[in-house]
Amino acid sequence: MTIATNLNNIKKTIPQQVTLVAVSKTKPVSDLMEAYQAGQRIFGENKIQEMTEKYEQMPKDIEWHMIGHVQTNKVKYMAPFVSLIHGVDSLKLLQEINKQAAKNNRVIPCLLQMHIAEEETKFGLDEKELDEMLKQVQHDKYENIKIVGLMGMATFTENQKQIRKEFQHLKSLFDTYKNVATKNCNIKTLSMGMSGDYELAISCGSTMVRIGSSIFGNRN
Ligand SMILES: *Cc1c(COP(=O)(O)O)cnc(C)c1O
Repeated sequence: MTIATNLNNIKKTIPQQVTLVAVSKTKPVSDLMEAYQAGQRIFGENKIQEMTEKYEQMPKDIEWHMIGHVQTNKVKYMAPFVSLIHGVDSLKLLQEINKQAAKNNRVIPCLLQMHIAEEETKFGLDEKELDEMLKQVQHDKYENIKIVGLMGMATFTENQKQIRKEFQHLKSLFDTYKNVATKNCNIKTLSMGMSGDYELAISCGSTMVRIGSSIFGNRN
């Protein structure tokens, strides 16, 4: 199967209002170009250096999404061009994004990452922390960021019931906050679902899926 075929097959299964992020981490630029030529314009990467290198080599009408955990000291490298940062899970990180966005005269859209899985290892906020962060964002002057939604990853398991439960939990948090609209917060995007679980995620209300291996093949 070619990348273009995979992409087109996946697009057929995704409703129009759901955004497809093609997760191209570890893959060479030639693979990304194949997806680009098939019409894909949104790419997701999880390492800032790799994303920056690809950004420099590829056409400029691409939206680059940072989907991985972000180290504060590296925000400056992506601040000039990143379109959406999915994994924001601390105020410290948000402050740094705001600072670097200001230096670039930009407003950078961000998603807050929620901890919905059972595993301890996954990053993300709990409900209380989410509430706190949204309050802070409203009170303080963060003029160069905009919170546009939530992101989460389900437990890595075959248990569909468990995954569904976690997605439903995230959807209910999303529903709670989606009518909140302030100057720098307007929750409209729900980023959940990957190759193995995106159809389930969409059935639970996802508006943005992040799909890698089903488009580009397995990673080493
Ligand atoms: C790698 C990755 C994906 C894509 O995973 P696939 O299973 O290859 O589709 C999605 N989201 C995040 C946060 C990732 O790191």
